[in-house]
Amino acid sequence: MKVAESIAEFRKLRADLAEPVGFVPTMGYLHVGHLSLVREARERSASVVASIFVNPSQFAPTEDLAAYPRDLDRDLALLEAEGADLVFVPEAEEMYPDGYDTWIAVEELTTRLEGASRPTHFRGVATVVGKLFVIVEPQIAVFGQKDAQQALVIDRLIRDLGFAIELVVAPTIRESDGLAMSSRNTYLEPDERVGATVLRQSLLLAERLYADGERSAKMIRSRMQELIASEPLVEPVYVSLADVTTLEELETIDRKALVSLAAKVGVTRLIDNIVLPPGEGLL
Ligand code: AMP
Repeated sequence: MKVAESIAEFRKLRADLAEPVGFVPTMGYLHVGHLSLVREARERSASVVASIFVNPSQFAPTEDLAAYPRDLDRDLALLEAEGADLVFVPEAEEMYPDGYDTWIAVEELTTRLEGASRPTHFRGVATVVGKLFVIVEPQIAVFGQKDAQQALVIDRLIRDLGFAIELVVAPTIRESDGLAMSSRNTYLEPDERVGATVLRQSLLLAERLYADGERSAKMIRSRMQELIASEPLVEPVYVSLADVTTLEELETIDRKALVSLAAKVGVTRLIDNIVLPPGEGLL
């Protein structure tokens, strides 16, 4: 496995990779969820590229950029064991040199859900992923459904700018008690870690109500909110049942829907989601 810190060095090494190339962008501090994306890329590609970059432009000044967990040596060992061929690990100055002034904004889709509470987040995500696509030139890119709105934004970006990239959205990997794996779970205090399982439980409640024939989005939302409110350590930011393509809130679940939520658990902001009907993919 090769590792490149600069764009120039990366391009030299990239030229030697067998095609097609599958790409997994990450912010590091890797867990089994990230590694499942590498495995997915491996199955679909002749070579696998991963990137580790804690992208400053997707963090608001009030967010956890400085505190974001990092362990590069461990990450590289995990990627090597998973069979990655080339890893791009730029510093912020390499991606955003002095005078950097070019941004990619996916507009309508980013006004909702995560975008509503994090107004500059997706501009940072779209810009860095667009730039990584230009540098890495993958034929396949693998993202996790865990960040469902992000995957939809990348899908829009690929279509709108005409990248010749197949987007694969891989399922959310969970801890044994159902909590979606996240690098941010390490921030949770032990009692918060227990309380956080209510998020997954509220998604399962939505799935059960749907299976019993409930189609009122308002009813399902309020039952989910009620359940989350029973856990005092968890403060919901939003609970949404939305059209899976536009992310507009639904009144009636009469089409494929994204059930998603964000919540603060102590200082930690967590997100999770499922698609209804169960078994349907996000895209
Ligand atoms: P991050 O390092 O948090 O930016 O995530 C990098 C990629 O891993 C994104 O495509 C995420 O959606 C994906 N990812 C994060 N957590 C999970 C998980 N629990 N299961 C599957 N994919 C995940």
